[in-house]
Amino acid sequence: MGVLSDRTALVTGASRGIGRGIAERLGRDGARVAVHYASNEAAAEETVAAIEAAGGSAFPLRAELGTPGDAERLWEEFDRHADGLDILVNNAGIGTSRPFEELDEREYDRLFAVNAKAPFFVTRFGARRMRDGGRVVNISSGLARTAAMPELMAYAMTKGALDVFTRDLSKVLGPRGITVNSVAPGIVDTDVNADWLRASDESWQGAAAYSALGRVGTPADIADVVAFLVSPDGRWVTGHWLDATGGSLT
Ligand code: NAP
Repeated sequence: MGVLSDRTALVTGASRGIGRGIAERLGRDGARVAVHYASNEAAAEETVAAIEAAGGSAFPLRAELGTPGDAERLWEEFDRHADGLDILVNNAGIGTSRPFEELDEREYDRLFAVNAKAPFFVTRFGARRMRDGGRVVNISSGLARTAAMPELMAYAMTKGALDVFTRDLSKVLGPRGITVNSVAPGIVDTDVNADWLRASDESWQGAAAYSALGRVGTPADIADVVAFLVSPDGRWVTGHWLDATGGSLT
């Protein structure tokens, strides 16, 4: 019996990377986990299989976010598998590496649609299904609180919007005993960083040097922080922005 037994969780973008780490951790803690993904069905099935192999319960849930009506479609699919929700982790996100001078309106809109608008509407429709005492965690970024490289500015802006959502939503859902928090990773070893991070030893060491702890983050580092916030022990923390960068901002 884990601390989350009898709870149902939805983790967006749980087929890979940080979302997968979170889904696996919540599964180990006893939650039944909806493993959301966009297109990579095989990876989502792997996450589900990993949760089940560890004795947990999970099911895959496909929904492309960043398109009109996406959140409603996601919850319609969710309702076919589960009856009510306790934990929502808005983790799915996309980045960009296009320089400021080259970022066009289309890519800017897509960044905001996936990283800021989708969590807003996924949460808006999810809140109706969430039982009192539930938990919302938004996966932000350390870049929302430190000057980003020019090519990451628009991405950082989406996370700034997400953090305002966290702060204000905590007041809206607080009367129902629902907490809302942002968790902000620094550089984490996932597919989104693979091209540059794993390009050379120098790249890896350079990334590690950003952290006070001298290493690159892992999905499990972030998952363990989320696990605290969604556990009964996290009940008095809400509207908070949690630096999970391994000391990269100091
Ligand atoms: P990742 O490895 O690229 O995985 C992205 C996940 O999101 C996948 O499950 C993917 O599904 C899903 N996804 C992507 N676009 C989607 C869309 N349009 N609709 C629905 N699902 C979509 O990413 P990550 O590095 O783990 O990042 C996870 C979160 O952490 C993001 O919000 C990111 O901004 C944030 N973050 C990451 C880092 C880092 O260094 N990695 C640092 C700070 C913050 P498919 O598998 O189906 O494509």
